[in-house]
Amino acid sequence: MNTLVLFDVDKTLIRIDTSEHRDAFHAAILKVYGVHANMADVPHDGMTDRQILIEVLRRKGLADAEIRRSMSECTRLMGEIFEANGTKNARIALLHGVRELLSALERHGVLVGLVTGNVDSIAAAKLRAVGIREHFKPGGFGNFDEVRANLVRMAVSSAVNDFGFDRSGRVFVIGDTPRDIAAGRGAGAATIGVATGNYSEAELKAAGADFTLRDLSDTAAALSIILGQSHGVAPQKP
Ligand SMILES: [Mg+2]
Repeated sequence: MNTLVLFDVDKTLIRIDTSEHRDAFHAAILKVYGVHANMADVPHDGMTDRQILIEVLRRKGLADAEIRRSMSECTRLMGEIFEANGTKNARIALLHGVRELLSALERHGVLVGLVTGNVDSIAAAKLRAVGIREHFKPGGFGNFDEVRANLVRMAVSSAVNDFGFDRSGRVFVIGDTPRDIAAGRGAGAATIGVATGNYSEAELKAAGADFTLRDLSDTAAALSIILGQSHGVAPQKP
């Protein structure tokens, strides 16, 4: 396989309208670190769960060594709490065009994976709830590393080592925030910004996105970028 597409989860593939992820985050921090933290204290759009954890606990006065000592335990517990409570009441919606695009990529032999700030078990639970988990092979997740560009590198390594991806092939990162774009660029991938989150196409372009789309509903437009064919969609940045 010589094309790999790595999708972000929240506001790129799905929308989640309830607070189960946030609640699991807060409950795990209280249990492991004994502090009442608030994710809303940090502007966390596009941040990895580990990075959010570090930032909110620093604000509570914890030292980095203390934070890091229990970080794996905390992210594991977040996943457990989310899986126990998470998708029962959560209103999770697949965004427009996602299912069609995933099927089209499969038809064209494109390898599809994830790069998300979500803890792996939380990402899996969300995608299972909307019936698309099985499409995604390699992944980089928010409990692997706090630096998002490293998650891209890990997903690419897994693609090469576990799924027969040709290391010299093309890699795309698709996401809804400037942090997705920065991570993709940092790891040497081409980037596609989708304006289905809190950022417009212009803002994603300004963040350095190679391509932008209003959403993923135009399968032909997304495919023409990914397959490098010319169907009237020109690169927006040389
Ligand atoms: Mg997102």
